[in-house]
Amino acid sequence: MDFGLDRETEALRERVRAFLEEAVIPREAEAARNLDRLEAIARELQAEAKERGLFLPHMPKELGGLGLSWRQLAVVLEEAGRSLLGPRALNAAAPDEGNMHLLHKVASPEQKRRYLEPLAAGEVRSAFAMTEPMGAGADPTLLKTTARRKGRGFVLEGRKWFTTGAEGAAFFLVLARAEEGPTIFLVDRENPGLKLVRTIPTMDHWSLGGHGELVLEGCEVGEEAVLGEVGKGFEYAELRLDPARLTHCMRWLGVGVRATELAQEYALKRESFGKKLAEHQGVQFMIADSHMELHAARLMVWHAAWKLDRGERIRHEASMAKVFVSEAVNRAVDRALQITGALGVSEDIPLSIFYREVRPFRIYDGPSEVHRASVGKRALFKGLRP
Ligand SMILES: Cc1cc2nc3c(=O)[nH]c(=O)nc-3n(C[C@H](O)[C@H](O)[C@H](O)COP(=O)(O)OP(=O)(O)OC[C@H]3O[C@@H](n4cnc5c(N)ncnc54)[C@H](O)[C@@H]3O)c2cc1C
Repeated sequence: MDFGLDRETEALRERVRAFLEEAVIPREAEAARNLDRLEAIARELQAEAKERGLFLPHMPKELGGLGLSWRQLAVVLEEAGRSLLGPRALNAAAPDEGNMHLLHKVASPEQKRRYLEPLAAGEVRSAFAMTEPMGAGADPTLLKTTARRKGRGFVLEGRKWFTTGAEGAAFFLVLARAEEGPTIFLVDRENPGLKLVRTIPTMDHWSLGGHGELVLEGCEVGEEAVLGEVGKGFEYAELRLDPARLTHCMRWLGVGVRATELAQEYALKRESFGKKLAEHQGVQFMIADSHMELHAARLMVWHAAWKLDRGERIRHEASMAKVFVSEAVNRAVDRALQITGALGVSEDIPLSIFYREVRPFRIYDGPSEVHRASVGKRALFKGLRP
């Protein structure tokens, strides 16, 4: 067992850290004041990430990526995740990052040329539309959107919501039920049968393009819009979600780390009752709990990444990591906010923003309860060793 980082990965981590400190973090306050500029700021940062050779860490070199292993990616995305702008600056933010993985694995050469290449280059954004009001949600088998055959193509009908990045996305990966079973379709934004009816007001504000509600009405697509094979939509959604859950963990781990760093900084400066906050045992305990949980979270992520590098499936590990990391990071941010008092509640430091942005992570990509149930069932009925 080797937990050390090789020299190349260590150097890469330092370069990402320098990029964050010199270019990304200094733009946070401006972005927080004017969220309308988020996209423009992200584009400027992407140009700088390209110059620094840090762009697209999760894709192979032939697509302009860094061609990293999953373990290296874990290190890079955690560093980038220290700022909410970081992953977007590297073009490795959700949902595009997960969509790129899926397109890279399953798309036809023509689909790759048309959708994956501009996405990887950072020229366009994409969205993944699975969840439906009162349809597919925690239980995706409730999928209601239909895909009826018409000639050589299909007509999609249904309603989707919480489609992250919908506003401004160039295309959508839409999950719909065809006669042969759930299928993913690539639908262009210009398709007249796809309407973005609203951007849903939510507690989080930093996802580019917000979370959209879409109506698919007489939405005609050709057979070339089918991603992979008809009827394999759930299989592909899982193929996307296993690593996508893990990369979410990698990025959010960075937020937990940064939050704890901010709390430590404050505790070392601020005095109360005759000594520094850092000297109060109650504060030490909170910092210790965050360190222990973030450390365990990182080890879970690294282990799952190591399995992916060996070409193994990580359903079980991804579920365990998703629950543990999302909850650990939520607790770490909450403690950091407590330690920094009123300053933490302000937007002078980003803790209150982290608090709002990280909470939904316990719900999307499978709520904690659903993952716990899957882990428990596998443990009990497949006889897994603890
Ligand atoms: C910020 C954000 C971004 C999102 N982005 C996307 C996106 O880009 N694309 C997309 O398709 N979807 C997206 N989603 C939707 C997300 O995937 C769903 O919210 C998630 O799958 C849960 O579905 P639901 O919200 O319909 O919850 P429901 O299915 O209504 O479940 C509600 C709650 O019930 C409980 N529950 C459900 N099943 C069980 C069970 N078996 N055992 C115990 N408790 C259970 C859980 O506590 C769960 O949180 C996003 C959601 C959020 C909040």
